[in-house]
Amino acid sequence: MAPFFELQGWVKKVYRQGPIFSEYLRRLERSANYGPDRLRRLQNIQLKKIIHHCYFNVPYYRDLFRALKLTPQSFQTVDDLQKIPMMDKSTVIDNYEKLVAWKRKNILCRVGSTSGSTGRPTAFFRDYESINFENASVWRHWRQAGDFGKKRVTLRGEIIVPAKQASPPFWKYNSANRELLMSGYHLSPDNAPSYIHALLAFEPKVLYCYPSTAYLLAKFFKYSAKQYCFDSIFTSSESLEPDIRAFIEETFESRIYDWYGQAERVAAIAQCPSGQYHIQEDYSIVELIKTSCGDELVGTHLYNFVMPLLRYRTNDYVTSLSENCSCGSAFRIVAKILGRNYGYILTPEGYRISIMNHIPRGIDNLLETQFCQEKQGELIINILTNGKFSEQDRKRLVQNTLAHTSPRMRVIVKEVDGIPRGPNGKFVSIINKLEAVN
Ligand SMILES: [Zn+2]
Repeated sequence: MAPFFELQGWVKKVYRQGPIFSEYLRRLERSANYGPDRLRRLQNIQLKKIIHHCYFNVPYYRDLFRALKLTPQSFQTVDDLQKIPMMDKSTVIDNYEKLVAWKRKNILCRVGSTSGSTGRPTAFFRDYESINFENASVWRHWRQAGDFGKKRVTLRGEIIVPAKQASPPFWKYNSANRELLMSGYHLSPDNAPSYIHALLAFEPKVLYCYPSTAYLLAKFFKYSAKQYCFDSIFTSSESLEPDIRAFIEETFESRIYDWYGQAERVAAIAQCPSGQYHIQEDYSIVELIKTSCGDELVGTHLYNFVMPLLRYRTNDYVTSLSENCSCGSAFRIVAKILGRNYGYILTPEGYRISIMNHIPRGIDNLLETQFCQEKQGELIINILTNGKFSEQDRKRLVQNTLAHTSPRMRVIVKEVDGIPRGPNGKFVSIINKLEAVN
């Protein structure tokens, strides 16, 4: 199996890091230093190209532009995007066939998908160029943090070994990236010693992970009194809460550089070495639309020609800041990224509570906590412990939950052997099954 796995790693590298990748990376490292005017010029040039393509090759936009009496010449600058309406996931579902530029659809295209709270999966095509562009954008982020291809451990949602495998190794070496790919699914109290042993033996410099997998790994290191320092840690794909960040950074004596993206690839936000979150202005065109939940990220592709999305509502929200960053970047800064499709718990009083991460705070011996509501007035807390969770810990957990939800809530604490991951291996902290009946 190993040679086949290795081969896969090299094929992926050749596909995602070809000559186009290198050219994109060069360009992106230049535009990282552009001022606002030059960035806007770059966006305008790229926008005109994609609009021209949409008009002639994408049936959905051809019909839309004709209905609005618009031609490619109607779009000279980013501001002209206001001439067309915003679209969202339901637009994509309803117009799927018409949104694909079929002449650009080929064997090198890939599909990304989202499931979302509605349970209707949506597929998004990405072409070879846009995948290489995306990869170059992520590499720029890594390089800005000082990682030019260091030895790394990746602990995310990919299937590395079969789910039913019960004994180590739960990892494989990918020589193409000098990377130890570890399974996020098998990281449990029982398997923790073997993970720690393998990681210490490998001596990685950087860690690529979800916040939830890094947090769990950090807890295992802490409980086993083992120490390890990374040069840097890169997180993405899940919300990174301040207390989780602080715990991981303290345990591994390392800085976290967080990245925000989405399956649709219409907006990216990266944390710079000064610690600020910057909208990647040369990745796409991002509008911030004021709503009661915060500013919604609305993005326009500049590089995906097989299924271009124009003014796509991400249903992700940020709080924006109008400040300059000490790193010198002209990219806009956001103060906080509010995750998508927040789960919530409904109290007997009818309040919706979506922030639950402070409930387990300060309670020892807890590794993972998941809040699950199936009935009104009742809350099940699934907990993964280190085996030393006491009756007193349980009482504190229940008390905290009552204090932060409602004193009338019936709380059931269930110790479990593992908490199954959601789509793409992401940790889901709140599951609300009431949604189905509401
Ligand atoms: Zn900065």
